[in-house]
Amino acid sequence: MRLYPVFAALKDRPVLVVGGGDVAARKTAALLAAGAHVQVGAPALSAPLAQCLAQGRIVHNAGAFEEYWLDDVWLVVAATDDRRINAQVAAAAQLRRIFVNVVDDAELSSFHVPAVIDRAPLLVAISSGGAAPMLARWLRVQLEVLLDHALGPLAALLQRRRGAILERHRNLSARRDFYERLFAGRIWQMLRAGNVNVAERELDRALVASTPTPTGSVALVGAGPGDPGLLTLRALRLLNEADVILHDRLVGAEILDLARRDAQRIAVGKQASHHHVTQERIHALMLEHARAGRRVVRLKGGDPFVFGRGGEELEFLRTHDVPYEVVPGITAALACAAYAGVPLTHRDHAQSVRLVTAHCKESLDTLDWRALAAERQTLAIYMGVAQLDTLRDRLLAHGRAATTPFALIENGTRPEQRVITGSLADLPRLQRQHGVQSPALLILGEVAALASKLAWFGQDLRELERAA
Ligand code: SAH
Repeated sequence: MRLYPVFAALKDRPVLVVGGGDVAARKTAALLAAGAHVQVGAPALSAPLAQCLAQGRIVHNAGAFEEYWLDDVWLVVAATDDRRINAQVAAAAQLRRIFVNVVDDAELSSFHVPAVIDRAPLLVAISSGGAAPMLARWLRVQLEVLLDHALGPLAALLQRRRGAILERHRNLSARRDFYERLFAGRIWQMLRAGNVNVAERELDRALVASTPTPTGSVALVGAGPGDPGLLTLRALRLLNEADVILHDRLVGAEILDLARRDAQRIAVGKQASHHHVTQERIHALMLEHARAGRRVVRLKGGDPFVFGRGGEELEFLRTHDVPYEVVPGITAALACAAYAGVPLTHRDHAQSVRLVTAHCKESLDTLDWRALAAERQTLAIYMGVAQLDTLRDRLLAHGRAATTPFALIENGTRPEQRVITGSLADLPRLQRQHGVQSPALLILGEVAALASKLAWFGQDLRELERAA
């Protein structure tokens, strides 16, 4: 049966909920949120309903269902756990042509309550017409993730300025253009940050601007270590809005697949195919696309501010007056530690963590080895695969124990993840023996010994057994 969708205006209107349990309490809360005057009919009320009654927010019809409870109400929800009573309520309501919903019973209901994504005043309601409520709920979760929380404040702002917008753009297509431009712009960012006044000024500015200049922008987004499940919601949303994605080689296909289909994808990682894309070229691309009014996502592996040259890119954007924002990502150290079962700090073993890059001999020379060799700390070493001999020798020379445990994590969080464990003295040998390649992260310190006990992801257990 095909349903006719409606949103009911229940403010100050009496409605009836039959039932005094938890389900009735949930239904009552939703009706109260819509401003309805709720009468709850039940022999006894559960704690949350009793509390509502004490606060004077509901009226209680005590006892078994009576037909007169239906006098004056606009709609009815039957939420008892007794189908006979629910059927009786439904029949009485239908007789009086009052819309009735029997919770989880499509057959007895004359209206259904949809799964809702609440961005009030904007509401998205989903119904499967009783065919598959679980599917509707599942879809709700999918959409919940995608729909920006700034939608609510934006809808409220548009409601306030609607008259002014109508007046300025009487012509429908001009008005549509105005809204399109507004929705493509920075107003979201302002609302997300809670700057309603700033957003309102931005709207008013756009309203009087005669020639619309498209404002492009760049979002510096961390894509995390590889597992798409470790993307942030914000990253996912930006990928869905992007016109252009400039991505590092480290960002995998599964993540790029989540982006808007028609977004232009440009690989700019240093090792992208065999072309060396210089930092200057990346800067130039960001500028070119942003100036053309496009929404650019500069997508980086892990976090943009951890060994990602994110700082330089922002300075460049700032110098050239391109609006930007930054979305953090889960950096390799945190992700690899989690997926290898290595707590980076531990009350018994390590009170601090250092994130260190070891990408070339020169970078190693600038490090403070005495500090790095200190005990009771964890080192998380990025880009170190080629430097493990030097690394071991210097740490040993500065007094770190040869038995210090390490975990070397290759392709962390991805299906191909491998974790090699051992002692500092054997580190380069084990790396060569297992053919560990980039990207790999080294965790060094007492906590690394816990990997053998706490590992939970993928192949780790087998690898550990083999390495032992
Ligand atoms: N901005 C990134 C780091 C870029 S430097 C971040 O925050 O994670 C690149 C180095 O990160 C690699 O050489 C490797 O040491 C580490 N790395 C990135 N992804 C990794 C992964 N999935 N598994 C292991 N190491 C990873």
